[in-house]
Amino acid sequence: MNLNPARLPGQKSGKPVDKPVDKPVNKPVRLTDKYHREFPYLRLSVTDVCNFRCEYCLPNGYHRSHRPAVLTREEIRRLVTVFAELGVWKIRLTGGEPSVRKDFTEIIDMVAHIPGITTTAFTTNGYRLLANAQKWQDAGVTNLNISVDSLDPARFKKITGHDRLTEILAGIEKSLELGYGSIKVNVVLLKDINDSSLPDYMDYIRERPITVRFIELMQTGDNLAYFRERHQSAQVMRTALVKQGWTENIRRNGAGPAVDFTHPDYQGAIGLIAPYSKDFCLACNRLRVTATGDLRLCLFGDIGIPLRDLLQSDDQMPELKSRIITQLEHKKSSHFLAQGKTGLIPNLSATGG
Ligand code: SAM
Ligand code: SF4
Repeated sequence: MNLNPARLPGQKSGKPVDKPVDKPVNKPVRLTDKYHREFPYLRLSVTDVCNFRCEYCLPNGYHRSHRPAVLTREEIRRLVTVFAELGVWKIRLTGGEPSVRKDFTEIIDMVAHIPGITTTAFTTNGYRLLANAQKWQDAGVTNLNISVDSLDPARFKKITGHDRLTEILAGIEKSLELGYGSIKVNVVLLKDINDSSLPDYMDYIRERPITVRFIELMQTGDNLAYFRERHQSAQVMRTALVKQGWTENIRRNGAGPAVDFTHPDYQGAIGLIAPYSKDFCLACNRLRVTATGDLRLCLFGDIGIPLRDLLQSDDQMPELKSRIITQLEHKKSSHFLAQGKTGLIPNLSATGG
């Protein structure tokens, strides 16, 4: 597989990624908690269905259950409108696999055009990216995150259950050509599976303006045995990066919990997301809503606040607004993952990672 194709038009080598991708709007964020954190960012799961079976997330694949139907487009419109009025300017659509929804492009188009929303992102396993990169960009996606847990096709297949690495990488190539504002590749760090793959990813981003983000494996309700076997601290990556001349970027005000490293010889950047590290939650800037309309104040929280009953007509929007503001007072200072408390979620496909 060619991991170093010709440079893209207009790219110069040796210049790390430095694009102003997130576009905060100049208006106050009304969502703040008692620890003085602001929440300008909403992650919205549009489905819990997924067609992959990543061994750390849905090892046996998705199974239909008798859960309520996912939010309709109208419900999503009301929800995002209210969050935007409360100062949210960045939305990430996630899942499950968001692109399995037949009306996914319409959802993007609608969300991206809600007044106040300036950054529309989504996280995908990339299986429909090659065919849809242009359409999704036209609909309004600015930021793309694609999960690629290995650059080795056999290992990729073992982790995800699908032999689709080549077409997913082709979809990323296409997205680069189209000039998406931000392209990130998510890699869940897995002991003895991909924790020695830093050189492969470095090669991959030498001439591509992509941020590769290594995410520490998180314990969920379903994956305790796997977690014990495969969890690897991101500290190993940090040590290797520093040793090879990568510099930790100064965090932008309001940036989320990822820590980014750059190097003058690489177009791309490397990010580390280490939820088990001390003080990870200090930089929390996001709220989540599940595919069936429950507000989650924390990915690993143990309360789900139903919002759906207030998404049934436009007249309910003021009430919805005050429910969100009131509930935010219950947001805790931190998750309790280190104590093994994983909260309500069986796996991340249920809430959206
Ligand atoms: N299906 C899409 C995908 O895989 O990109 C979006 C949903 S997925 C739940 C979002 C992100 O969460 C992915 O990057 C995935 O690798 C990550 N993820 C899933 N389970 C995880 C876990 N237990 N620990 C850390 N990251 C996890
Ligand atoms: Fe599906 Fe994403 Fe979970 Fe993989 S990580 S099983 S692609 S939801």
